[in-house]
Amino acid sequence: MQLAATLRDRLAAVTDGIADAASSAGRDPSEITLVVVTKFHPAQLVRDVFDLGIRNVGENRHQEAESKSLECADLVDLSWHFIGQLQSNKARAVRRYADVIHSVDRASLVDALAGGDPTERKHEVLDVLVQMNLTADGARGGASDLDDMLQLAHKIAAVDSLRLRGIMAVAPLDEAPADAFARVKTASEMLTKDFSEASWLSIGMSHDFVEAIEHGATHLRIGTAITGYRPTPG
Ligand SMILES: *Cc1c(COP(=O)(O)O)cnc(C)c1O
Repeated sequence: MQLAATLRDRLAAVTDGIADAASSAGRDPSEITLVVVTKFHPAQLVRDVFDLGIRNVGENRHQEAESKSLECADLVDLSWHFIGQLQSNKARAVRRYADVIHSVDRASLVDALAGGDPTERKHEVLDVLVQMNLTADGARGGASDLDDMLQLAHKIAAVDSLRLRGIMAVAPLDEAPADAFARVKTASEMLTKDFSEASWLSIGMSHDFVEAIEHGATHLRIGTAITGYRPTPG
């Protein structure tokens, strides 16, 4: 991947790519939310993308996300998307700042998110997605088949303080993204039969967002193509 020199140029290139892919797929780009993944970068990068018009950022580690959200507390209309594996003992703390959690990958995490003091939460009702595991490795996080996914979805839907919005997935490295995303799309069609509000599809990263848009992505989680290469995690 060739990266343009400035943040503004890279963001513009990605935004153009999204518009082109949406138009080829006969979709309206305004129904696609770009979440800029700012993980491992300093809080200043969050401010920089905010200044360029971005209102959704993604983080995958609790401590880092928490401290950046505090540093950027003045950016009131910025939404924080938690996209990483979440330990149950940190679930309550994530509810203090998160606007969306994409990575609900197991039943015990649903219980953990339901617990704690409701007055300490940013949202009385938090938007969450079920994570699906598209790899053949069952030990990875996420529902590994349709039954698993629906079971987890029903578990979430039974919690008053969570609103089930859809499915999140990462394409495996050893499979064409289009094939993997086609399976998620089928899963999404099944899910929306039971839950009409759960139509979000969080698929698509720097290298596969075009295929994701073709397969119905409503949320793209894009890091490197916009932010440039990430510093090594500290
Ligand atoms: C890091 C990360 C991304 C962004 O990946 P890029 O390849 O940098 O676009 C998206 N989703 C998840 C879950 C991630 O951890």
